[in-house]
Amino acid sequence: MEMTPKKRALLCLTGNKWKADRVTAFDPLTTATVDQMMAVKAPFPDAHRDPELMAKLAAAAWEVIGLEGFKIPFDLCIQAEALGAEIHYGALDIHPSVRKPAFKELEEFKLPEGILDRGRFPVVEGAVEKLREKYGDYLPISRQVVGPFTIAGHIFGVEKFCGWIKRRDPEELREVLFQLADLNVEEARAALRAGADVICIADPTASSDIISPQTFKELMVPTYQRLCSRVSAPVVLHICGNATSYLPYLPDTGIDTFSCDAQVDIAFAKQVLGNRVAVAGNVPTVSVLLQGNPETVKKACIECIAKGTDMLIPSCGIPPRTPTENFRILPQVASCMVYV
Ligand SMILES: [Zn+2]
Repeated sequence: MEMTPKKRALLCLTGNKWKADRVTAFDPLTTATVDQMMAVKAPFPDAHRDPELMAKLAAAAWEVIGLEGFKIPFDLCIQAEALGAEIHYGALDIHPSVRKPAFKELEEFKLPEGILDRGRFPVVEGAVEKLREKYGDYLPISRQVVGPFTIAGHIFGVEKFCGWIKRRDPEELREVLFQLADLNVEEARAALRAGADVICIADPTASSDIISPQTFKELMVPTYQRLCSRVSAPVVLHICGNATSYLPYLPDTGIDTFSCDAQVDIAFAKQVLGNRVAVAGNVPTVSVLLQGNPETVKKACIECIAKGTDMLIPSCGIPPRTPTENFRILPQVASCMVYV
């Protein structure tokens, strides 16, 4: 009997790849492309605001591309929006972005009661329910929570928040990051109740281009610890850019899988992390998936598997203009790699 994609994905992302029949092509990062929006008539920006369209577009990852599961929502602004930041919803091929931060000073922020009733949280959980209803237990659902550092950048402004790292008492910053981690816990619990299987922390701004490994260790490791220890489901963490210098600290965060961007060498990451944290990635999104062709994608996929990836997925959220013929190669290669 063939293993269900959900069981395979859960084995791979908890570091039990060898108990699965092969590596998974379940992508817990953003999967939506313009081709899929057209195919299922669920375009951006409407799909960000309507649970029916959101579920339809998420399902296109499986229906159109063949990826072995679903990921919602598609954008990084839901938390900041619910906290009062002004959002621009983008366009067909442009993701939403923050137009105006919510707060000027650190002291102005306090996590409000009933935050999950605000903004688009009900839309997201509604979409999770619809996917679970339609696909039962066959395919896994990844619910993305935007990580505490990225939310902080959105609600205070990235430059301002980074300036505070240098000037202010680390305790004050930790207090705010912990409250944002608590928001993540609240939304993760709601998503799990609605039917999600996996929580994916997308914290692109916590990149080594922006903060030092020391800051990562002192501020972010305890923040992720607080988050992971309160979520009773596998957790994937994605950080953009070259996170090589963070690798030694990742086992302390409590995450199950680290999703590597293209600058991280998967073989090296596996060497550092051993069997403590699984590694996902990292077919380059721009140079290979967006600008390459099916042959170059296939080559990159085989290289990732050879280097020991636990999940064959893109290096980051997929660029909206990625051609379907390229994106489809990931699940095709994964399904050919059955262990013998
Ligand atoms: Zn990324």
